[in-house]
Amino acid sequence: MARQIEFFHPEPPPRAHRVWPVFLPFAGCPHRCLFCAQDRQTGRDATTLRGARDSLARDLESALAAGRGPYELAFYGGTFTALPEPWPETFLALAARFRSAGLISRVRCSTRPDCTDSAGLARLRTLGLDMVELGVQSFDDRALAVSGRGYSGETARQGCAAVREAGLALGIQLLPGLPGDRPGVFRRDAALAADLAPEIARLYPCLVVRGTGLAREWERGRYTPWTLERTREELAAALPVFWGRGVRVIRLGLAPEGTLERDILAGPWHPALGQSVRGRALLEVVREAAGELGRAPTRLDVPRRYQGELLGHGGELRGEYQALGLSQGTIRYVDAAGFVLI
Ligand code: SF4
Repeated sequence: MARQIEFFHPEPPPRAHRVWPVFLPFAGCPHRCLFCAQDRQTGRDATTLRGARDSLARDLESALAAGRGPYELAFYGGTFTALPEPWPETFLALAARFRSAGLISRVRCSTRPDCTDSAGLARLRTLGLDMVELGVQSFDDRALAVSGRGYSGETARQGCAAVREAGLALGIQLLPGLPGDRPGVFRRDAALAADLAPEIARLYPCLVVRGTGLAREWERGRYTPWTLERTREELAAALPVFWGRGVRVIRLGLAPEGTLERDILAGPWHPALGQSVRGRALLEVVREAAGELGRAPTRLDVPRRYQGELLGHGGELRGEYQALGLSQGTIRYVDAAGFVLI
């Protein structure tokens, strides 16, 4: 019988949580960051916290009455841990009420690394917060300074440590291609982030969005975003680094929500960026298995769940598979958990 190599996709398994996002654009933010367009990204204007709480309470009530859920409630779009008093407590008390009714299973928020004092986080944990996603963006001092983030790489690392020390799950967001970027910065950022072993990571390549400070920099010729091709390559190289540390990368690029697509002036945005990137990362896994096989493969069995990404977007990786000896007729999609290369 011909030698065969069996292998699994290296991505860690997903957590079964349906997320209920609550957008609080710019709420609690100490200033508006150069690149940030939360209003266009989320399709919501800066809202009053009272209005956000009232509509959330109504929506949760209706979901409970309709027997929906459970959900993971996620407060996004601003700096939750720096909301003025008593708003963090107010939102968490609302979440706790619906948690005891069985509608909410977990609560997470997004915030900045420089708004994470240990005592404050520990208090939010006792009020029902489970996870903090930190908008780290980069650990590189120069990229952070040129982008006007207002904190250093060390502060970003300390922020991650403070979340873990408070007993909260950690998520890390990175923004490759910031102003001040140089070759190798994102690779180092990805390795550092993976070493911190967050539960999840999100990678949002930097875009030039209408109405931001970065748009003005770009118009004056002072900022050049990454190309789409570089973005695909860099993100595809980063995925195995995260997977190797058991970290799921749950987002690659911004989702086309609100008016975002219309408002992107420049930068590496594509609706199928994630599919392209995941496809490239998977190609490397197959290439490695083919190397182990030591001869041209004659068949590849692929778990059906990876059918949508094996060949990348629009079959862009077909030629790469053919070069490995795997033409379309030799690839089979099967109801199995693992891959088989024969
Ligand atoms: S990047 Fe984060 S901290 Fe900066 S303005 Fe946007 S939401 Fe606020």
